Amino acid sequence: MNENPMVPDLAHPDDNDGHALSGVASMGRAVTPGEIDVSHGAILYLEDVTVSFDGFRALNALSLSIDVGELRCIIGPNGAGKTTMMDVITGKTEPDSGKVFLGQTIDLTRMNEPSIARAGIGRKFQKPTVFEQHPVWENLELAMKTDKGWWASLRARLDRAAQARIEETLSLIRLEGEALRPAGELSHGQKQRLEIGMLLMQQPALLLLDEPAAGMTDDETMELAALLNHLRGTCSMMVVEHDMEFVAALAGETGKVTVMAEGRVLAQGTLDEVKQDAAVIESYLGR
Ligand code: ADP
Ligand code: MG
Repeated sequence: MNENPMVPDLAHPDDNDGHALSGVASMGRAVTPGEIDVSHGAILYLEDVTVSFDGFRALNALSLSIDVGELRCIIGPNGAGKTTMMDVITGKTEPDSGKVFLGQTIDLTRMNEPSIARAGIGRKFQKPTVFEQHPVWENLELAMKTDKGWWASLRARLDRAAQARIEETLSLIRLEGEALRPAGELSHGQKQRLEIGMLLMQQPALLLLDEPAAGMTDDETMELAALLNHLRGTCSMMVVEHDMEFVAALAGETGKVTVMAEGRVLAQGTLDEVKQDAAVIESYLGR
């Protein structure tokens, strides 16, 4: 075994083969995030997207666009279709109709889940899914995008770069002090930050977060808001959340907030604007 836990164990470079994350990494990349054409300013573009479940329209001609670099908060009552929208973007659910594009040119409706992840979309589900038995740093290592076996001669150099990225990410998610602990010992809020760190190791162009603050203490929630605010400029983000203080911390006074209801966009604007929108008050906030 490796003496220094911060150094990836080179003796067993393929230990994580067969792992859900390494399957994505080992297949190479169809599109690199740098190849996403954002010349018209949008990182994500949805137009008239409809999804039906047994005749019920979970998404009903949903149209939505997110600017590159933006951190967009999405709010709306339960059943509004927020999670279904993320399922469509990530290729988990096929829409009945409509357009879903990453940048100008990447048609996500023609791609499967692994290729969409490779194209640069990372998704954070509600419950943290970390490898409980593994130390925190190793969770980050396992999540890293590598071209195993193809770069044997460059391995040493790549691994130094990889190590630096693990350290950077540990500091970003403020888990430097927990690097050696099994992830299973972390608090809920720490696990959520670790999972975000694992997504960041994949260098996504767009990060989708579905109710990331659910189940967190107030302190953990504000720490998460600080982390996401810090990530601005690193990747574009779409955050679905109910906690209005959290949304306020992310949107600030000028950030755009989208309110969804019944499978479409009900209102859009600053948090203050949507809070004063009559339709929003009736369908959501006023209840
Ligand atoms: P939200 O995340 O905004 O709470 P969802 O996208 O989870 O809303 O759900 C939107 C609607 O679609 C809900 O009425 C839900 O019951 C329904 N729905 C979601 N997924 C499925 C599915 N796989 N089969 C049938 N109905 C579904
Ligand atoms: Mg949901």
